[in-house]
This record gives sequence, C-alpha cells and structure tokens, in this order.
Amino acid sequence: MEHVYLISFGEIGLKGKNRPFFETILINRIKKSLSLFKDLKVYKTHGRIFVETKANSSEVINRLKRIFGIVGISPALRTGLNLEDICNAAVTLLEEYDELQGKTFKVEARRSNKSFPYKSPEIARHVGAYVLKNSTGLVVDVHKPQITINVEVREKAYVYIEKVSGPGGLPIGVSGKALLLLSGGIDSPVAGWLTMKRGVEVQAIYFHSFPFTSDRAKEKVIDLCRVLAEYSGIFRLHVVSFTEVLKILQKNTPNELLTILMRRMMVRIAQKVAKSEGCLGLVTGESIGQVASQTLESLMATNQVAEIPVFRPLIAMDKKEIIQKAEEIGTFEISTRPFEDCCSLFVPEHPKTRPDLNYVIQSEQSLDINELIEEGLKNIEVINISPEDSAY
Ligand code: ATP
Ligand code: MG
Repeated sequence: MEHVYLISFGEIGLKGKNRPFFETILINRIKKSLSLFKDLKVYKTHGRIFVETKANSSEVINRLKRIFGIVGISPALRTGLNLEDICNAAVTLLEEYDELQGKTFKVEARRSNKSFPYKSPEIARHVGAYVLKNSTGLVVDVHKPQITINVEVREKAYVYIEKVSGPGGLPIGVSGKALLLLSGGIDSPVAGWLTMKRGVEVQAIYFHSFPFTSDRAKEKVIDLCRVLAEYSGIFRLHVVSFTEVLKILQKNTPNELLTILMRRMMVRIAQKVAKSEGCLGLVTGESIGQVASQTLESLMATNQVAEIPVFRPLIAMDKKEIIQKAEEIGTFEISTRPFEDCCSLFVPEHPKTRPDLNYVIQSEQSLDINELIEEGLKNIEVINISPEDSAY
C-alpha cells in the first residue's frame, strides 16, 4: 500500500488537441511548487495526475491548493488489484479519523479497468460490508453519508476519502502574459489573482509618488506581490517613480480632472512596459461606479489612450464580493494597512464624475505627453519577488 495524491483537473480536460500542452504545463507547475520535497514523483495517466512524496501531507496539500488548474486533491492509498487489499486500504484510511462512532458512510466505486472481475456495485457492496465489520461504530447511509469511501479501479486500485478543493481555472502559462496596474488597495490584487486564475502569467506595475506617498506604501505593494507569488512563483514588479509626472499634471491641468489625467498617464506608461515585456494586455481593479473615476464616462476617458486591451475582471462585482475574495486569497489584511496611495492623497475635492471626453483631451493640450511618458519610463525599478513560503 502506498500513499499517493490523486489530482483532478476539470477544464483543461476539455481543450481537445491542446490537452497535452495544458497537462504538461500543469505537471511542471506541480513539480516546481513541490520541488523542495526530495522524493517527489509527478506523472499522469488517463486524465489524472498523480503525486507521490513522503512529505507531510498538510504541507503538500497547502501547496497544491494554490496551483491554478487543479480542481481536487485526494490523498489516497494505492493497492493491488484484489478486493482484500482494497478493503484493508479502506479500513487503514478510516483509522486516521477520530470519533467514527455513529458516523454514517457509503462506498462509491468506479471501475475503468474492465479486466477487474467485479463490477462497481459489487465492489462497493463488498468493501461496505467489510468496513461495517471492521471499523467500529460506522453506520451505512447511502443517501447523505458523512463519509464517502471512494474506490477507483485502474491499473491499480485507489482508495480515498477526502477530496480537497483546488482553485480551479487554468495553469499559469497557458494563456500568455498581462501587466497588472497594482495599487496598494483592495481591488487590484484581486483583479490580478482572477487573471492569473485564467492561466495568464501576470506581472505588476506600481506608480510610486515618493515623498507624497511613503516607502511604506511601496512595501505594502511588494507584500501584496509576495502573496500573489504564492500562486505563481516569482512575481515581477515594475515600480515607476511617478512624482515628476504628478507634479506637472497638478500644475498644468484642471484640478477636477486630476484623477482621470493621472490614470491616462498610468495607462500610457504601463502599455510601453507591457509591450517590452511581451504582455498582451493591461489589468486593472476598476469596477463600474465604485468611485468618481470609475463611472462609464471616466472609464471611457481612461480607456481612450489604451492601445492594447485593458481587462477589468472586477467590472461587475460589488465591493462586498471583492472584499470576500481578497480575504480568501490572503491580500485583504495587507491592502487595509493605513498607507495612502497617491490617488487618495491627490484626489480632487470636487472630482468630475462624468467627464466630457473632449474636455479631457483639451486639458492635455498644454502637455508634452511623450516627454511625460519618457519621464515615467526613465527610472523604473524592477523587483522579482519570491513567495514567502516556497521552493521557487
Ligand atoms: P484599488 O483597490 O485597486 O486601489 P480603487 O477602488 O482604490 O482600486 P482607484 O484607486 O480609483 O480604485 O484605482 C483604480 C485602478 O487603477 C486600480 O484598481 C489599479 O488597477 C489602478 N491604480 C490606481 N492607482 C495605482 C497606482 N498607484 N499604481 C498602479 N495602479 C494604480
Ligand atoms: Mg486605490
């Protein structure tokens, strides 16, 4: 009997000819994320990926839970192809549970190996009877059992009880690259995470306005990247010194448009960085109507300078839903640290909530836009951030 983890992956099974490509990328992700375990084996057969290692099970599961593309993780026992071994495996697995007295269970069997002489219902019945006799206190309930013992008969037999949910989505690397506009707020890290979930390799760009915003704000952004890195491996952050650009905007444009004009400069600078990094789009944490700069009119004004697609995964989400997600992925606590970003410091007292596009364009007439872009690109600091707890 050996311990092995059965990994199920949903969506990537649907991708026809691309399937081997997706599977290879997922397997490489798993290998990388578990590479600190010396005895590691990762391989696939028939729509399942198998992981073998003697490492501590909760450590292994914690890492697997953060790999996009994985739908479920089942710690299993592998046995020979005979009913006696399968029955023993079921009882062995149950022994890891305390307090079986009075708990209800059922057995579910699947037989993809048709050379095994018993059909699925027969396997289930046989294992069920054995468990009843040998595990003290369990009661059968085939409708709503508290414990389901799964038996899969393949080239070998696999018995498992637990199925831990993975994050789903697609493995990072199958969908190309994108650049996330990452502020220290609640929204943009969630937008980045959701994009990563669809298999996109995400990098981030942060516009820093020292000394208007302290270096603590930059540290906050780095810490957010560290959380995202738990899901992706090394996470690349570009830090733009935005102070000069901000000062010029503040001095030469109507105050009521400052946020919009600042956002337009961010998009212009970000897309240059995106191009040089091979990113096929920008990602922001904008959501319709959340603040003055996110009305449809404002979004249109921001978007008008974009030459590459701008993806807004949160566009239709409520703040409450975004916060819930931020808590789930582990960014909320960092995002709510009290350091202001430049946007909140410079936010005009009476921002234009429905800016007229012509007025916006006109307000930029006195500026040398290319020079401002160059100013932003002049000293970008690139930081490659490793996850706190990882082998990457
Ligand atoms: P967040 O919670 O992401 O800060 P928000 O609701 O506070 O979002 P805004 O501050 O209006 O919204 O920013 C909208 C989007 O613009 C952000 O989600 C982010 O993608 C981008 N953004 C804002 N400020 C910065 C910055 N200093 N650096 C990089 N991107 C930024
Ligand atoms: Mg913000």
